[in-house]
Amino acid sequence: MDDLSSFCCLNPVCSDLGKRGHGNLTVTARYGPDKTRRMLRCRTCTARFSERKGTPLFDARLPPDKATAVLAHVAEGVGTRKTARLTGVHTDTVTRYTRLAGDHAEAVHDEVVAFSPHDR
Ligand SMILES: [Zn+2]
Repeated sequence: MDDLSSFCCLNPVCSDLGKRGHGNLTVTARYGPDKTRRMLRCRTCTARFSERKGTPLFDARLPPDKATAVLAHVAEGVGTRKTARLTGVHTDTVTRYTRLAGDHAEAVHDEVVAFSPHDR
């Protein structure tokens, strides 16, 4: 059984938009290398979308372990050119993934901080 509790419908006109663990999502297909990625469907609005939509890995061409290695180097403060050499990817690729991850991290930060309890 797939755990879909961390996912939500991403359709802007769906009444269940953004409701995690709401029970409206099902897995309709698996795709990608070794069929490891799930295609999700919302029962409420019938929209279908990749489980990777809205993440830095959506439509990524690098294998997940390679993308993770690139971002781990950058997160540790390794420069773009060094990261490219150490992971075997082009410097433009390092820059693109860094931007995607940065935008995603900013969005996650804004969402999580918005629901944090106030200090007393
Ligand atoms: Zn929906």
